[in-house]
Amino acid sequence: YDPSNQPTDVRYLEVLKKYFGYSKFRPLQWKIIDAVLNNNRDSCVVMATGYGKSLCYQYPSVFTGRVTVVISPLISLMEDQVMALSAANIRACLLGSAQEKTQQVRQELLQGQYRVLYVTPEFTASAQNLLKELHSKVGIDLVAIDEAHCVSQWGHDFRAAYRSLGTLRSTLPTVPLMALTATATPEVMKDICRSLKLCNPLLTCTSFDRPNLYLSVKMKSGNILNDLQSQMVCIGRDDYVFEGPTIIYCPTKKATEDVLNIVKMMGVQCALYHANLPMKVRKTAHRQFINDEVQVVVATVAFGMGIDKPDVRTIIHFGAPRDIESYYQEIGRAGRDGLNSTCHVFYSTGDFNTNRYFLNEITNEKFLQHKKLMLRKMEEYLATTKCRRRAILSHFENKDVVDVGGTERCCDNCTRRARRVQSGDLQRDGSLSMDEEVNYGKEAKDLFSAVEATGGRFGITVPVFFLRGSNNQRLPARFHSHKLYGHGKYRSEKWWKAFARQVTVEGYLEECPISHGFGSTVELSAKGEQWLHDLTGRRSGKEEEPVLQLL
Ligand code: ADP
Repeated sequence: YDPSNQPTDVRYLEVLKKYFGYSKFRPLQWKIIDAVLNNNRDSCVVMATGYGKSLCYQYPSVFTGRVTVVISPLISLMEDQVMALSAANIRACLLGSAQEKTQQVRQELLQGQYRVLYVTPEFTASAQNLLKELHSKVGIDLVAIDEAHCVSQWGHDFRAAYRSLGTLRSTLPTVPLMALTATATPEVMKDICRSLKLCNPLLTCTSFDRPNLYLSVKMKSGNILNDLQSQMVCIGRDDYVFEGPTIIYCPTKKATEDVLNIVKMMGVQCALYHANLPMKVRKTAHRQFINDEVQVVVATVAFGMGIDKPDVRTIIHFGAPRDIESYYQEIGRAGRDGLNSTCHVFYSTGDFNTNRYFLNEITNEKFLQHKKLMLRKMEEYLATTKCRRRAILSHFENKDVVDVGGTERCCDNCTRRARRVQSGDLQRDGSLSMDEEVNYGKEAKDLFSAVEATGGRFGITVPVFFLRGSNNQRLPARFHSHKLYGHGKYRSEKWWKAFARQVTVEGYLEECPISHGFGSTVELSAKGEQWLHDLTGRRSGKEEEPVLQLL
């Protein structure tokens, strides 16, 4: 431990021990608190889930005896925190919902009876005068904006009510502001600082790495029961159990119901959660999960913020997550107790057609490009054969990350590599295991030529039928006489499809959504065309072996 990351004045540690029960600060906590208490400085805090964000904003006013204002998007989360603080003899209150005792709370607040005031962003916009009065009567040490990524349109969970928080700066010009989030790329962090008008903020960012989370991905098999069982522990013939508290995320309400039925059929206690259910039902589901009355919640991503359950052992996404930042936030709910937990995705390539289709509604070109990029990065994550942990960390750090992962307990790809599965082997889930050393030039040449020969007007199935010399009616008969027809019999249909996914991720093929309706066609991208062109160009001289390495 680095002594420079702890206060030298013992009074700080005494207060920490007395009210919070800890004997020291975590290194970044003190740096952030020191900036508030001793430098009156703004800060932007990006901190991995479980590191201890709350202490950073709860501590200052407990120490000074003044008050901190905390802005948070979720009432239930604030209620929990108010309760936890009260239990530790720190008086806290909440304003912003339909509360019975609002007047009384306001009075007590202005008399300086509370150390922490929680408010919603909506309430903040309408409470400028109250905040000014509170500052002049009691003194506000700090305004903390929790879940600050909601400020940014470039983040994954933009909320309109957060937009108006920029006015805080002029309402309380001398009070330091602290923006906190667990998920922000460098761009989003910049956007947060700009939107909230932070002045020369202290920027802190812990590592995003969560070494206790095992990451894995599989294609959906078409059989929900089989898919789920593959993530469960078999304890007897046809008898499977989840390893512990489990959240299963589905992309639609319909999908939650399908999955719920299967989970119920297996005899597992489970609850359903999505935005269309009445508040009371949602609250019950939440409570049952927290209290271990049900083991599984099948939910849309509406089941999210505020699930402060330390021992969630498994998070399954049944359907592709929206983007890496949402995914990171969602799996952040697993393994908060530090014990090993698993985060698994089942997806199908069709999941992306729906997502792409909805992008058609975006009119702002720059924003559209951004959303497309985010979608593509998620596709890359799902299809990658490299270390998944590195893929996620590289996304947040905007650079290649090389010094993490690689062990058998890191992700499915690392496990495979550690167990030396042969490169090019078709896995049971329909993906390929790949090794960077292996040359797939011949396969690439055959596949690209088939896509070109069939004119780029079909999905991947038709060019694969073509390669395999199939009589299937979906392949127009005129192709049967083409010189390359049946040229790829040396690989199975499944293998070619898995390979096509891989080269699509690497940018050689492109999926183009059909303008009316779902589905997409596959074409050679500029990169693919160039590769093929270089090859044919060279072939006029000496025959060279085509080279294409994946990974
Ligand atoms: P976050 O909001 O960043 O996910 P929390 O504020 O909920 O994290 O804190 C995560 C856990 O870390 C809590 O169980 C909390 O009690 C613990 N914690 C926070 N600060 C310290 C500290 N200085 N020493 C020991 N434990 C701490």
